[in-house]
Amino acid sequence: MRIDLHAHSNASDGTDSPAELVANAVAAGLDVVALTDHDTVAGYGEAAAAVAGTGLVLVPGAELSCQVDGISLHLLAYLFDPAEPAFAAERELVRTDRFRRGRAIVERCRELGAPIDWEQVQRIAGDGSVGRPHIASALVEAGVVASVSDAFTPEWLANGGRADVRKHETDPAAAVRLVRAAGGVPVFAHPAADKRGRTVPDAVIAELAAAGLGGLEVDHVDHDDRARARLRGLAAELGLFTTGSSDYHGSRKTVRLGEHTTDPAAYEELLAQATGAAPVTG
Ligand code: AMP
Ligand code: FE
Ligand code: ZN
Ligand code: FE
Repeated sequence: MRIDLHAHSNASDGTDSPAELVANAVAAGLDVVALTDHDTVAGYGEAAAAVAGTGLVLVPGAELSCQVDGISLHLLAYLFDPAEPAFAAERELVRTDRFRRGRAIVERCRELGAPIDWEQVQRIAGDGSVGRPHIASALVEAGVVASVSDAFTPEWLANGGRADVRKHETDPAAAVRLVRAAGGVPVFAHPAADKRGRTVPDAVIAELAAAGLGGLEVDHVDHDDRARARLRGLAAELGLFTTGSSDYHGSRKTVRLGEHTTDPAAYEELLAQATGAAPVTG
C-alpha cells in the first residue's frame, strides 16, 4: 500500500488540475492520495470524477492556514463534511482575506521595484485559492527571481520578508475543534518545517492534542532525520498517529508524489476516527 496524504491541485497553489493530480497519482503507483488544497474543497468534484475506474482511493481533505502567538502553521483536515456550516464559513473567511492580502503583497513588490501586477497574479492563480506561490510565479515570470523557492527569502515573500503581508489565519485549537465538529480528522502539517519560519513549541502541540488533534505529519521533505525522531517521540507521548506525505505542488515544487508515504496502520487509524465523509474509491 502506497499512501500519500498531502497533495495540492490548482484549486490552491499546485499546478496540476484535480484530474491531472489523480492521473499523476495513478502513474506514481499510489494506492491512496489525499487532496489537501489550502483552505478550499473546490477541487473535490473534479478529483472524485477522475478516480472512477482507476482503482485509486481519493481521501478528500484540506490544509488550513492557522496562526498562534504570531507563528503561522498548517493544519491538515481529512474526511470532514464539506457542507458543515461553521467550518465552511471559516475556510471562506481565510480564502476571502487571501485576495486582500494578495493585492497588498503585489503592491509591496511593486514598491520594491518588481514589475508584476495583480491581473498577472490572477491569471496565474486562475480559480485557485490565491497565495504567495502564485505571486512567486509572477516574480519568476518577471525575471525578478530564478525560481519559486528563490522568492521565499527575506528579500521577498518569506514569513516576515520585505513583501510579506499576513492574512487571516485561524487559531489552531479552534481549527481542531471545527474539523472535529465537522466529523473530520485534524493532523498537524510539517510541524517542524523551520526553514519556512518559526515553528510552535511542543507545549502548543500538547494543547492541540488535548483539543482533539489526531496526528502529526512526520515524514515530510522539510524535516531532517533529527526532527522526525523527535516528532515520533512526541506523537507517542501524546497518543497521536504519525503520517508521511509528499506535499506535492506539481511543478511549483520539486517534490514528487509518493516521495514520502504513510504507514497503512496510521491510515486505518485516521479512517476509524472520521465520521464526516468517506474516501472515494475508483
Ligand atoms: P500562503 O498560503 O499564501 O501563506 O503561502 C504559503 C505557501 O507557500 C505554502 O503552502 C507553500 O506552498 C509555499 N512556501 C512556503 N515556504 C516556502 C519555501 N521556503 N519555498 C517554497 N515554497 C514555500
Ligand atoms: Fe502550498
Ligand atoms: Zn503546508
Ligand atoms: Fe501543503
